[in-house]
Amino acid sequence: MRKFIPKSCEVEVLFLNRHTCCICHDKGKDVQIHHIDGDNSNNDISNLSILCLDCHSRVTGTRGLGKSYSSLELKLYKKEWENIIKKEHGFHYIQKTKRVPKIERQLFVYEAKALIYRMLSAKDSNKTFFETGFENLWQLAILEGIQTEIIEHLGFAFALSAISEVNKPVALAKSLPKFFGYLGNPIGVPLRKSDERDILEAIDTLEFVHDLSVEENKSYRILSAIKNALSDFIVIAINYHNYRLYLKARRVLYELFKSSTTKYDKHDKRLPKLAKELDGLKKDIRKELKRENLSWKI
Ligand SMILES: [Zn+2]
Repeated sequence: MRKFIPKSCEVEVLFLNRHTCCICHDKGKDVQIHHIDGDNSNNDISNLSILCLDCHSRVTGTRGLGKSYSSLELKLYKKEWENIIKKEHGFHYIQKTKRVPKIERQLFVYEAKALIYRMLSAKDSNKTFFETGFENLWQLAILEGIQTEIIEHLGFAFALSAISEVNKPVALAKSLPKFFGYLGNPIGVPLRKSDERDILEAIDTLEFVHDLSVEENKSYRILSAIKNALSDFIVIAINYHNYRLYLKARRVLYELFKSSTTKYDKHDKRLPKLAKELDGLKKDIRKELKRENLSWKI
């Protein structure tokens, strides 16, 4: 049975896409909301894309010999279009601009971007370079208050490396929770909205790396690094009693579990090991939930 998309999700995704089709970007056309994974009950924002009627029928219709759009392709279109809009409108950055003067801030963002590109163009075997690179990025993020921009930029640029490389996406997955290392010990203090938003973006990135990796190399090392990062974010969600973060991380964890138990043609022999590790993680999460007296489903 078709479930209706909650109004708030509908409004948010329409707003994020400026009511415009993410494939053809034609402003002013009538649009529809499309479930990327084909599951009409999965109304997570990351699963909803905005398509005009023409593009929608090309996505869902059978077109003779023409190749149709894959869900991964749609995710790329969505991500790219939402990034373009964020850049055009800058509504993501409004909150933090007060702390650092605008010009100075832009210089730091520029420096971070330059570093990200240097890391992206380095050889994948250059592990230590990525380690020091990420350390520099944390410093820039925390000291100069440009965390949001770095997380966002890292995500899209770096996640794509999961198509053909291993060390880069692994370093990315390892580093993402470290950007939130200061969220240690809350006692009745709610998570700041900006932190929640940045973590949601980080989990989005992990999901993206997962999808690309599963599509291409099915690397145990990448999927395992994603698992560890998700586990860190779940701990934050539980400590802060933040259900929204918890739900999002749990959903990606579930996808990871599916990937680790599916047989692939280019099968990484260590994937069954990952399935076991995920079982262990589930137990740990159950304990954490109990410790915090939360009755959330795992
Ligand atoms: Zn269109």
